This record gives sequence, C-alpha cells and structure tokens, in this order.
Amino acid sequence: MTSVYISLGSNLCGPESQLSKAVAALEQLQQTRIERISSIYRSAAVGPGAQPDYLNIVLLLATNLSPIALLDATQQIELDQGRVRNIRWGARTLDIDLLLYGDLLIDSLRLTVPHPRMKQRNFVLYPLREISDTNLVLPDGSDLDTLLLQCSELDLIRTEHPPLINEYSPSG
Ligand code: AMP
Repeated sequence: MTSVYISLGSNLCGPESQLSKAVAALEQLQQTRIERISSIYRSAAVGPGAQPDYLNIVLLLATNLSPIALLDATQQIELDQGRVRNIRWGARTLDIDLLLYGDLLIDSLRLTVPHPRMKQRNFVLYPLREISDTNLVLPDGSDLDTLLLQCSELDLIRTEHPPLINEYSPSG
C-alpha cells in the first residue's frame, strides 16, 4: 500500500460536520485505510470577499488506489457534500486536496502532486507535521521542518477533534 497525505477544508454549512462526514466517507473507500488524522486547524479564509473561517485537517491514508482513482473518489465525496465549483477560491462546503502520494511526482492535466500550493499553506504544513513521525522529505528534496520555518503559524488555531475523528489522532 502507498502512504498518501490528503487535506480537507471547509468553511460552509457546518464545517465541523462536513469534515466528520468526509472522514466517514473516506472510511468506506475501497482498498484504502485511514491511518491518522490531525487536529482541526482554524484559519481566516484567503480569497474573494468576506468569508467564514476555514477548518482544515490532514489525513494519512494507506491505499492501493491509483492517484487518479483516489482523485475520482475524493472529487465524488466533494460532490456528494454539495460542493459547487463556481468562484475560484470562493467559499466551499468541502475541498479535498491530494498533497503527497508516496514519493511520486505527478504533473498531468488533472493532477499535480505534490500539491502545488502546499508549501506556502500553514493550514497544511502544521497539521502535516502533527501526524508525521519524522521530518518528511518531499519528492523535490525539500523537507517539512525547513518549510515550517518559512511559514508563519500566525492566525492558525488548533482545535479539538469532534468525536468521530478522535480515534485516529496520534495520541488516540
Ligand atoms: P480546487 O478548486 O482547488 O479544488 O481544484 C480542483 C482542481 O484541481 C481539479 O480540477 C483537480 O483535477 C485539480 N488538481 C490538480 N492537482 C490536484 C491535487 N493535488 N489535489 C486535488 N486536486 C488537484
């Protein structure tokens, strides 16, 4: 099985329950096991107009699905939870990004891995560090601890898990 890190974000329609629902859907994915889930991180929205705060989590999966099959599955979960693709970076009920898929570098029409913006996003890097045992080295040779030094934790608030998510936390 391949170790895959994904991030989930929501800032609409009960973000905490959107994340819990998405975790429940990911639990049902074939050939895939959830290994770990980070705490929930709250941050101010980046994007057009005034938007509610975002809640984000990062998950470690073990999967036998191919990268595209996993993308298909996560996009289906987004659709099932009512995501409408309209304004880029607009408010959304659920956004799922594939961050890292083993050591693969992927640059295709539908999929870029590592996720192109993950290195600048504190709401991705801090939860990623929380659930990784060692200093992760990305396929391009950059390492997580160095990326974190360059990425402010400012305005990022770590919060408690809802019950569904608790069992996957590193201490749980
Ligand atoms: P977004 O609006 O940020 O959810 O972007 C969704 C689009 O990004 C989809 O068309 C995906 O095919 C594409 N995409 C490219 N790379 C990734 C990735 N690593 N994870 C998720 N979506 C990706």
